[in-house]
Formats: sequence, C-alpha cells, structure tokens
Amino acid sequence: MQEYKKICFWIVTLLCLLVLVSCAQKEELAVPEEELLVGVKIYDHAGSFPELFEEWRSLGINTALVSASLISDQEFRSLAKKNNIATFVIIPIFYNPEELEKRPDLFAITETGKKANEEWVSFICPSRQDYSSQRVEYVKNLVRDYDPEGISLDFIRYFVYWEKVYPDRTLSSLSNTCFDSYCLEGFQKASKIKIPQKLAETSEKASWIIENHLPEWTEWKCQVITSMVKAFSEAARKIKPGIKINAHTVPWRKEDFGGAMKIIAGQDLAQIATHADYLSPMCYHHMVMRNTSWIQSVVEDVYRLTQHRVIPSIQVKEAYIDKTLTQTEFRDSLVEALKPPSKGVVFWSWESLANSPGKKELIKEVLESRNLSSKQMLF
Ligand SMILES: [Zn+2]
Repeated sequence: MQEYKKICFWIVTLLCLLVLVSCAQKEELAVPEEELLVGVKIYDHAGSFPELFEEWRSLGINTALVSASLISDQEFRSLAKKNNIATFVIIPIFYNPEELEKRPDLFAITETGKKANEEWVSFICPSRQDYSSQRVEYVKNLVRDYDPEGISLDFIRYFVYWEKVYPDRTLSSLSNTCFDSYCLEGFQKASKIKIPQKLAETSEKASWIIENHLPEWTEWKCQVITSMVKAFSEAARKIKPGIKINAHTVPWRKEDFGGAMKIIAGQDLAQIATHADYLSPMCYHHMVMRNTSWIQSVVEDVYRLTQHRVIPSIQVKEAYIDKTLTQTEFRDSLVEALKPPSKGVVFWSWESLANSPGKKELIKEVLESRNLSSKQMLF
C-alpha cells in the first residue's frame, strides 16, 4: 500500500511539472490568441488623447500601429497602457525619402539602370549594409526608449508600387530591382554565377540575369529580405525579449502576376514567417481594383504558405481611385477580412475612420455580431 501511495505521489508530481512547463512555454501574444487582433494604423493625432482611447475601446479596437513620432508622446504611451491597447511601432525599412535626399547613392536601381522611383515611391537598395546597420540601431533605440508591445516592419521588400498594380498587369511589365553594384556583387558571390565581363551597361547585365538566371536571382533576393526581417527581429528581441514582430506584406497571392511576390518584391512569406509573429498583407482591395472576396483569398493564400497568424489590413477610404469606397463595400470588406483563417484586422487608417461615423458604427456592428455568433457556438 505504501508503495502504491509513493507511485501515485510521483505520478501526480510529474503531471504537475508537465502542466507547469507547458504553461511556461505558451507564447504570450500582444493580444491573447483566443481574441481577434483589431488594430488601427495611426500616423498623427491633433485631438485629445483620452477621447481617442475611449473611442477605440468603444469600437473594440485593442491594438494601435503607430508612427515613431506618435509613440514618442509620453501621454499617448501611458494612456495606451492604461487602456490596455497594445502598441506596435510602424518602421518603414527601405522607404526613407529623407535619407535618400541626403544620400542619393543609396537608391535601388531598376533593370533599365534607373533609380527606383515612381511618384512618391522611392526605394533604398536592400544590400547596403551601412544603411541597414543604421536602421537596426534606430529600431533598438525605439524599443529601448518607448517600450512598445511590438514592431511593425513596413517596406521590407524590393521596390514596387503595388498600390497601382491592377489585375491586368503582367510580370514583365513590373520593374525588377536592384541592379546596383552592391546587389550584383552580392548575387554573384552568393550564387557563384559570373556575369560575363563583356556586358558593360547595367541594363545589359540585368537582362542577362533575368533571361538566364531568374530563379537564382529571385532566391537570392528573397534571402536578402528574409535576412533583414531576421536582423530587425533579433535586434528588437535583444532589447525587449518577447516583443512581437509584425511584417507588412504585398497583397499578392503566390501565382499572381507570374509569381511577382518573390520575383519582384522578394518576399518569401514562408521564410519571413519564421522570424515574425504576425503577417499583415495590405489587402486594400478598392485601390487595386479587386472585389471584397479577394481579401479572404489573399489571407487564405498567406496562411496556406505559412500556417501563421495572418492579420489583413483593409482600407477605410478610397485612395488613388476616383470612386467612393461606400459603407456597404467597407462592411463587406471587414466581413471578408475576419473570415477564418484570419486572426484579426487592421484598419488603414485611423485618420480616414475618424471622419466617418457611419463606418465606425459598422465596425461595432460587425464585431458585436461576430462575438455573439462565437459565443453561440460555445453552447
Ligand atoms: Zn542594390
């Protein structure tokens, strides 16, 4: 009998230990896994902060993706903590017009030998280690100074003005980058492929690579971007272990535009997902002339490729397109964005939402009906 009690004691102790270990290993997210992440992108705010947070709470918003200037405001930060709103700082990586103004030599170069620039979109070459190291330090300082729950990596890709890429475009119509000397050297070193010496012009070298070694070029580009996601994540986690990493991704499915997601943007989502906690495709359907059901198809595709947490970002107001994004369309886009396997939604942007009482009401309505139906499923 004594032996039996002893065995029981050890079994119970062992079980308790197992439970403790599994609890300790459970990942703590910015927003608990069972809750949807409902976020807004906000870049600036002129009004009262207490009212802003009150309104967010009443709408069911639990996360703010904010600019570096906004998070530097002490009142904003303390109200976010008080109201239990998680903050992610948006950090544009290879889009940095101020830096390019000072150092035009950092410009990424297209296959025609020109600077990567279209309207407001100008890109820095992702192979410039001096710039990347400087940006890593910048991220470390932001995390150290403002203690956000997460960082949201934006423009972490090669040059593409996807906001104006419509469904009829083809792969060859999209600009491939970057063919400056840093990238050409990096590619040759990593792939052991030698560009023929007789090719003098950048455009000749680019054509030769695209015609003869596109898979290797694409793989190398994706590795460069993944290594940047890794570098920024590690730097942030070094300062604040447990900080969450979100990556903004181009809203293209794997097969769209002949595989442009990897070939042009250099975003290999399966690889990026190994270093990030969330992937947030910018599903601005109205601007890229898609219907609302396209949003869910993008989320599904990202999930299929990564098996990861996908939080689509949706647009609140029309942009670039001279046609109103109606309330009905906005409501439909929100419903699509929340369909499984989505883990939430991010509204772009608060500035657009703040001036639209009708759309704010719709958010409440959709989130409430969703909460109600998920509760009903429990019974
Ligand atoms: Zn380059």
